[in-house]
Amino acid sequence: MADLSGKTVGVVGGGFGGLSTACYLADAGADVTLLEKNEQLGGRASRLEKDGFTFDMGPSWYLMPDVFERFFAHFDHEPSDYYELEQLDPHYRIFFKDGDQIDVRGDREHMRNVFESYEGGAGDRFEEYLDTSQEHYEISMEQFVYEDRSKLRDWVDPDVMRAAPVGLKLTGSMQSYVEEYFENPKLQQIMQYSLVFLGGAPKNTPALYNIMSHVDFNLGVYYPEGGLGGVVDAVVDLGEELGVTYETDSEVTSLTKGKDSFQLEIEDGKQEFRFDNVVVNADYAHVEQDLMPEHERQYDEGYWEKRTYAPSAYLLYMGVEGDVEELRHHTLVLPENWDSHFEQIFDNPAWPDEPAYYICVPSKTDDSVAPEGHSNLFVLVPVAPGLSDSERVREKYREKILDDIAENTGVELHDRIVTEEQFCVSDFASRYNATQGTALGLAHTLRQTALLRPNNRSSAVDGLYFTGSFTTPGIGVPMCLISGQHAADALIEDQGTLTPSQD
Ligand SMILES: Cc1cc2nc3c(=O)[nH]c(=O)nc-3n(C[C@H](O)[C@H](O)[C@H](O)COP(=O)(O)OP(=O)(O)OC[C@H]3O[C@@H](n4cnc5c(N)ncnc54)[C@H](O)[C@@H]3O)c2cc1C
Repeated sequence: MADLSGKTVGVVGGGFGGLSTACYLADAGADVTLLEKNEQLGGRASRLEKDGFTFDMGPSWYLMPDVFERFFAHFDHEPSDYYELEQLDPHYRIFFKDGDQIDVRGDREHMRNVFESYEGGAGDRFEEYLDTSQEHYEISMEQFVYEDRSKLRDWVDPDVMRAAPVGLKLTGSMQSYVEEYFENPKLQQIMQYSLVFLGGAPKNTPALYNIMSHVDFNLGVYYPEGGLGGVVDAVVDLGEELGVTYETDSEVTSLTKGKDSFQLEIEDGKQEFRFDNVVVNADYAHVEQDLMPEHERQYDEGYWEKRTYAPSAYLLYMGVEGDVEELRHHTLVLPENWDSHFEQIFDNPAWPDEPAYYICVPSKTDDSVAPEGHSNLFVLVPVAPGLSDSERVREKYREKILDDIAENTGVELHDRIVTEEQFCVSDFASRYNATQGTALGLAHTLRQTALLRPNNRSSAVDGLYFTGSFTTPGIGVPMCLISGQHAADALIEDQGTLTPSQD
């Protein structure tokens, strides 16, 4: 067992990475205080309560249930100690803008037939694709996701050598990989859309991430009781049980390493904290560039300028009168050709002319998120990070999206909206100190994968660690939970108190 008794650790930021690392460190005996800028915990998984509606502001897909089970199991718990799960069927509905529609379901035989109906032989290739995806998922989770290989020497390992030939074949793009299996553009889109969870595009995301299809089709899509906010509550409650102290409304404005401890100022001197160690969950670039003195930064401004940031998002949360029959809990609306949307995110930043977007209707599954007789919806359009989002532009885009929903799904919302809120690039920047207003962190391009992502351990300052979607393993709630474990393991290892936790 690790023993951090007598050690004080400060965690900066209360997103999933910060909440997770706080649990692991408190469990190892440390006296942990988590400092969060905002009024609530959860970070990008915040909740918005308005006029009787409860919106999950960020994540809404509960994927990779295996990761949540493993997380809670470390503390001798299981997810059902905190929340129940409901498997969604269909996983989601897709409206293609040419009028076509597909329900993507967990039933493999059904999906095999759907694929075959679009392209002769695609049914068999669908099976082959998913079997391979499962194999890649199992190798990558055990060898590269749970195993933190942050140094070059960590890659000199017989298991890595065995996995290397497969890994090298998968460094090409997801675009070419999927094209080898399916010609029909709709089938290609189904296999590629889950890349948006990683903040990437088919052309800039390595084929390694075909594992997302195993996540999507084989592992299933769930709704946790209370939404993703219910999962935040669960991890916060677990932390409380383990002795973590949470301080909300506590924005750290300076972080420096003194002789024996770290000094953290809240709101320019309103309060000061001292800790033996610090784990940062707030965006890596924000903390290094805005809070730390230059000589304590691991990366310079040029480094952060050259990164590929994952998209930001235009979000429209709506409370609506009546049902929205045509939609499912998760619905995607996709143009026949979505290349121009990705180009307007990554190559020539602009508001998407022909957007691909996502609509979430949690009230389909959960009565508590909307007053009786109403629906709870949000629309998410991925947009370029750093895009200008003045009030005027947003209003115009709101109209465009409501028209597009009516045209492509048949759901007319204009006159039924009883409450609404928008959230966009500048809100990500101001609410979360998000670099360039990114919704997700650093995109999973080849150059920003595995040990090419910023490290959990600072090489510039001893005793300083990082967790969350800017570091390894990456973006998404499951990855950030694992990232919290990596950061805690690195700290524990450096204390020399024991072997990092392996479970
Ligand atoms: C719209 C949207 C939809 C998404 N959909 C999904 C999904 O369906 N499924 C999924 O798995 N993932 C999804 N994600 C991604 C997932 O939500 C994130 O990857 C994950 O929640 C990020 O966690 P994190 O640990 O990086 O911390 P963050 O959530 O980024 O939290 C960092 C925290 O640090 C705080 N902070 C910043 N600066 C300071 C400071 N100076 N002092 C103190 N605190 C500070 C911020 O306020 C914030 O609370 C989505 C994200 C968004 C935005």
